[in-house]
Amino acid sequence: MFQEESLCSRCARVRKTCCYFEIYVTPGDVKRIAAYSGRTDFHEFRVPADANYLDQDDDPAWRDQVAGEDGRRRVLKRRAGDACTFLGAHGCTLPLEVRPLVCRLHPYEYTEAGISEELSDSCPTHLLKHGQTLLIALDMNLEVARRWHRQLYAEIRCEPLRWRRSGSQSLSLGCQVGREMR
Ligand code: SF4
Repeated sequence: MFQEESLCSRCARVRKTCCYFEIYVTPGDVKRIAAYSGRTDFHEFRVPADANYLDQDDDPAWRDQVAGEDGRRRVLKRRAGDACTFLGAHGCTLPLEVRPLVCRLHPYEYTEAGISEELSDSCPTHLLKHGQTLLIALDMNLEVARRWHRQLYAEIRCEPLRWRRSGSQSLSLGCQVGREMR
């Protein structure tokens, strides 16, 4: 049966996609991706190339918890040429429920306080079909995005980089790293 090419796949053919960005991964993302792929070599700790990534005064949870004192944070590795190692010829090779939460939430804009009604302008809306919206093309909806958003910030609260900053050694009670929220 003919399967229509996804917007992400068409995007990947015409330009560098969001998969060339620096993608922060939570401890839960690491667990899920490692369990699915059998790989442990897909992430590293790095200071963001763009200082704006740490300049998040409107999102204190992000600003204070995703990076350690030295400014490094856990991100997906990229190949030479800068694309994520999970990017294949037809887009992401990870199933949706395994992808990093930051990837799943793109192109929604958000802070810990919630998801904005405005979408990021980084998607190729000129590739949309007549009458199609970006969210329909990406098969996304706000209800699912809100669940992923809750999960992202729950996992950020379990970020060991944050404990290293505060001097705490143990996992905080209530951290549910790696389990999908419903
Ligand atoms: S995990 Fe998938 S969606 Fe996220 S940056 Fe990599 S290829 Fe893109």
